[in-house]
Amino acid sequence: MGMCWKRAVDEVREFLGPSSNGSAMKKLQLVMIGNGMAGVRTLEELLKTAPDLYDITVFGAEPHPNYNRIMLSPVLAGEQTIDEIVLNPLHWYARHGITLHLGKAVVRIDRARRVVVAADGTEAHYDRLLIATGSTPFVPPLPGRELEGVISYRDIADTEAMIDAARTHRHAVVIGGGVLGLEAANGLRQRGMSVTVVHLAAWLMDRQLDRTAGGLLARTLGERGLSFALVSQTAELLASPQGRVRAVRLQDGRELPADLVVMAAGIRPNTALAEAAGLLCQRGIVVTDTLQSVTDARIYAVGECAAHRGVAYGLVAPLYEQGQVCATHLAEHGLGRYTGSQVSTKLKVTGIDLFSAGDFMGGEGCEELLLNDLRSGVYKKLVLRGNRLVGACLYGDTHDGPWYLDLIRSGRPVAALRDGLIFGQAACESLAALAAPAGNTPATSTFTPRRPALQGA
Ligand SMILES: Cc1cc2nc3c(=O)[nH]c(=O)nc-3n(C[C@H](O)[C@H](O)[C@H](O)COP(=O)(O)OP(=O)(O)OC[C@H]3O[C@@H](n4cnc5c(N)ncnc54)[C@H](O)[C@@H]3O)c2cc1C
Repeated sequence: MGMCWKRAVDEVREFLGPSSNGSAMKKLQLVMIGNGMAGVRTLEELLKTAPDLYDITVFGAEPHPNYNRIMLSPVLAGEQTIDEIVLNPLHWYARHGITLHLGKAVVRIDRARRVVVAADGTEAHYDRLLIATGSTPFVPPLPGRELEGVISYRDIADTEAMIDAARTHRHAVVIGGGVLGLEAANGLRQRGMSVTVVHLAAWLMDRQLDRTAGGLLARTLGERGLSFALVSQTAELLASPQGRVRAVRLQDGRELPADLVVMAAGIRPNTALAEAAGLLCQRGIVVTDTLQSVTDARIYAVGECAAHRGVAYGLVAPLYEQGQVCATHLAEHGLGRYTGSQVSTKLKVTGIDLFSAGDFMGGEGCEELLLNDLRSGVYKKLVLRGNRLVGACLYGDTHDGPWYLDLIRSGRPVAALRDGLIFGQAACESLAALAAPAGNTPATSTFTPRRPALQGA
């Protein structure tokens, strides 16, 4: 498969002629390992400002050009196709003169020779190396995890395997009730499987939602036919006589029928290559604010494989921010520093609106503003510390999520907005207009506290 793509790219290059390969001047060699979202975004940014600085070579373990991994969930749910989620088709690589090795995993980085070596022996020399190898799903060491029908959820191959299983099998168990697990569960349910989610914590998405929002989510998903085993731990996976998984046994002894088990119990940064090459790795390849390895300044790392100030991010937005900064340094413009990101969470299940950001659990020294309209399924919780918004957890009406995120990020004082804050930006603006001195006041008030709209099922 790898050779096929390479040949296709070479053919397009040949068609485009020598100019597509850049000028005759000797360029620096940039090699990228990992053809995923963070790495390719970095290349896009680099090509905008320094299109002729490098000869670029990309190795991708998957046999596909760069695609929008986050949209695998809509693909699983039958709402999009694989073709629709490709971000950079082959002609994009060809147009930029990029040598693309698809279906080729790099197995070694030789820092002394400045060469990377792929599994099939292909080598590429680098002046600068960009590692963007992402993460691998964490598969808990459960008895039976090697059985047929047990998979994780990371890439196109996993998604296709789930779609195939849903055609021929009936019972799925998803291990992990976080974002990924719930998106997998929803997709499999949409495809007609009966699905149970096993989750260790007392409520779903416990790292992104508080108990109330998690309960509302379980209610909505339950109405759509999903089942949940909360506060539950998997003990083992049981085999059918044919060697396929047939059930999940929980530690309390319950058995859940399962001919498909999806592991969605977290991810681990892909750092084996970097570690073997002697780069410092601690929960990711340790990078500076310029996204360079602290061990070797020729080597950059972006995305889920990188640990910046102790954090390895698992969402696209911060990875794109890393890519932007990394690109300016690769371009030798030396602009900007990456200082970390404030992240927010959503769930891509059609008709379910939830949002959380910052320290939404609150605690000592914090004040909470709450709106809880259980009948319409709208819940909002804002957490203030001192005079600032530090966290938000929204369910059912997420319209103001980006605005709250902005307030959290900026750390702007919110005392003046306090009365309208829970009702959102429009309410705050209307209240401000009402409070303005005569002459600046609109003839009639435009503020009616927005009745939370019915969302969800
Ligand atoms: C189903 C799903 C839904 C998601 N939904 C969201 C969402 O809604 N919002 C959000 O922000 N994030 C979401 N994410 C997370 C998001 O997709 C990741 O944060 C993002 O893709 C990480 O980008 P990356 O470039 O670091 O890694 P990847 O996109 O994983 O790219 C890494 C690539 O490197 C390749 N690779 C690894 N090792 C080697 C090697 N040795 N040689 C060559 N190639 C190698 C891998 O095969 C992979 O293709 C979701 C993830 C999944 C799986």
